[in-house]
Amino acid sequence: MQGVGFRPAVYRLACRLGLSGIVYNDTKGVTVELQGEEEKIDNFLLRLQSGTDMPPLAEIKSCKKVDIDVIETEDKFSIKTSDSQGTALSQVTADIATCPDCIHEMAEKGDFRYEYPFINCTNCGPRYSIVKTIPYDRPNTTMSEFAMCNRCAAQYTDVTDRRFHAQPVACGTCGPRIWLTDGEGNTITTQTNKTITDTASLLRAGKVVAIKGIGGFHLAVDALNDEAVKRLRERKKRDHKPFAMMADSIEKIKKYAIVSESAEKLLKCPQSPIVLLPKRKDSPIVPSVAEGVNTFGFMLCYAPLHYLLFAQNLEVLVMTSGNISDEPLICKNEQGLKRLARVADAFLMHDREIYRQVDDSIIHFIEHNPILLRRSRGYVPTPILIEENCRQEILAAGGDLKNTFCFGKQNQLICSEHIGDLEDAEVYHHYINSIEHLRKLFEVEPKVVACDLHPGYLSTQHALSLSDTKVIQVQHHWAHIASVLVEHGLDGPVIGLSCDGTGYGTDGAIWGCECLIASLDGFERFGHLAYYTLAGADAASKEAIRPVMGLLKKTYRHDFNLQKFRWLLDRIDAEVNKQQIISEQLKKEINAVETSSLGRVFDAVAAMLGLGSYNHFEAQLPMALEAVIASGNEENYDFELKKIAGKPLQLDLCKMIVQIIDDIQKDTPGGIISAKFHNTIAASILEAAKAARESKNLNTVALSGGVFCNRYLTNRLIKLLKKNDFTVLFHRNVPANDGGISLGQAAIAAKLTNSEL
Ligand SMILES: [Zn+2]
Ligand SMILES: [Zn+2]
Repeated sequence: MQGVGFRPAVYRLACRLGLSGIVYNDTKGVTVELQGEEEKIDNFLLRLQSGTDMPPLAEIKSCKKVDIDVIETEDKFSIKTSDSQGTALSQVTADIATCPDCIHEMAEKGDFRYEYPFINCTNCGPRYSIVKTIPYDRPNTTMSEFAMCNRCAAQYTDVTDRRFHAQPVACGTCGPRIWLTDGEGNTITTQTNKTITDTASLLRAGKVVAIKGIGGFHLAVDALNDEAVKRLRERKKRDHKPFAMMADSIEKIKKYAIVSESAEKLLKCPQSPIVLLPKRKDSPIVPSVAEGVNTFGFMLCYAPLHYLLFAQNLEVLVMTSGNISDEPLICKNEQGLKRLARVADAFLMHDREIYRQVDDSIIHFIEHNPILLRRSRGYVPTPILIEENCRQEILAAGGDLKNTFCFGKQNQLICSEHIGDLEDAEVYHHYINSIEHLRKLFEVEPKVVACDLHPGYLSTQHALSLSDTKVIQVQHHWAHIASVLVEHGLDGPVIGLSCDGTGYGTDGAIWGCECLIASLDGFERFGHLAYYTLAGADAASKEAIRPVMGLLKKTYRHDFNLQKFRWLLDRIDAEVNKQQIISEQLKKEINAVETSSLGRVFDAVAAMLGLGSYNHFEAQLPMALEAVIASGNEENYDFELKKIAGKPLQLDLCKMIVQIIDDIQKDTPGGIISAKFHNTIAASILEAAKAARESKNLNTVALSGGVFCNRYLTNRLIKLLKKNDFTVLFHRNVPANDGGISLGQAAIAAKLTNSEL
């Protein structure tokens, strides 16, 4: 990997051992040519692989030693600079959190970077967010406008220095600066110290401050001040979604949340993601920070500026993306002042331009493994490697929700950062621009474009509009399973369990609980949740009354009437008129679709238990349902697997619905019903997998889809599968939700085009 100081480290080691030769890198990795005594060369290899002489971000995946003839005797060791040809892919690396050395140095009074908010070195600092084009050299980054002073330049050119070729190297004399403005953009102070102390005072006083960071603006507010958090919520037009928080030490985070050993490791890692942690019951964090969920999202400081702020006696801050509602993250100064004028009381600005906006990444734990929920800062653009080179370059357009897109070139699949929901016009615009920018950055000329099967998806329409490219449309749930396969370096076939809210099916229905026999080059629909009817297309994913009525209709058939269920329906949506319209739509099948969506079943059960009736953000109701589960309950409801000749296996949940209604009428606590419901879903999926194993003689199961962002369900299902001797594959590098779709599409497109050529 470039930009992690690997080649200088090799140089230093070779020089120390008195070896001559050369080090260079290309897409395949690093090559070191050494001349010298065999014993010294062996010593070199030993020390290289032991890692003690290597930079912290370097990781050697494999190492091969070959004897070659000496053509020319070298008398010194040198680093061959990379030419841009063919190396575009490996040049740009991810943004890395401030390293311990830099934190230490920043606190040292005599150091010329004492309290400098942009201190960085080869082992840390911005990369992806500041690069405009390749090769990755300072003139091609947004640092180009800052001429290095002599002291910085001396370190930058000294191969023995920690800052050798650290492109964003800077100091208070020559580098970027910070300043503070009021909500209208009038400068309060341009002095570094005063900017920090004034910002901290504003935050302590409950003000909302927009803080420009690495990948964009954060909106910051005191997480212990209820009024302040509510004010931010109202101004940001983000009524319900949980806010992430930042603190400057693990000890502090432990006061508010339960931090396991692996969570601590993850919080401290160079990628510095937001980690979802179980809430502490007695936590003084105000409830308005994260309602309806049982976790807090925490991250540690990851930029020098964050550390300087927290040093001013700040306890814990809400640090949420600087945007309005679901629009793209804001990263430019003028744009921030304009769009966040009514949200922020003040702006902490800086003049290091952010070229690519990157949100904070979000991770949670499934079966003690870290699993990404949003893949952005720190992880992008690290590629996922494939065995066989793409014979044609590929663009995978992704899905419309939680969009990412992905390029395939050589042996690399490069996923973009989290882009967002394309239905927002600003996000769509950002999507189109981002594809073009990254295409140029990575020098990709796609000849093949992969996209979803859904004709209404904007991403599909974009893919279809591209000229001179071959289009491959990939069924949504197949793409989900393919993303897991490619992460594990497998081709399939496997039993793919793909469960989510919506995905367009090959029969025109909306799929969402699928048992597929899937490979990278094809799939068969082995089984699915028995179809029920959803009325009111787009509204159906938001208004829970729609799946509730659809499932009641399916369960009670002719016995279903509004009168009979008014007691239940009125609790969810008392608008009698609406109930009547939905009922008519269901009966006449007007403006209604057949679906096997599992996500909507979660919505329906949450609503029946009185946990809300509307998804203000994706999966709000399912998350509320998960949050109330009574622990320790092992009971299941009944369900049926039905075999119908010539059709996929049908998973029928009607018996469960009857029993849930029964439990509600008996006033069974919601937590018990929720637990039994989750257990039933896990048990029924297990049975489907067993049926597939028996029929197809396969033993490996791959899980994907947004439903598997549910920790309780996924933990339970994985345990059940393992107990029944299945080999279980789950995600490693991309989310189970639609953020992983583009990777699956790209993997399928690579496989299909390679086998065609
Ligand atoms: Zn550093
Ligand atoms: Zn300097």
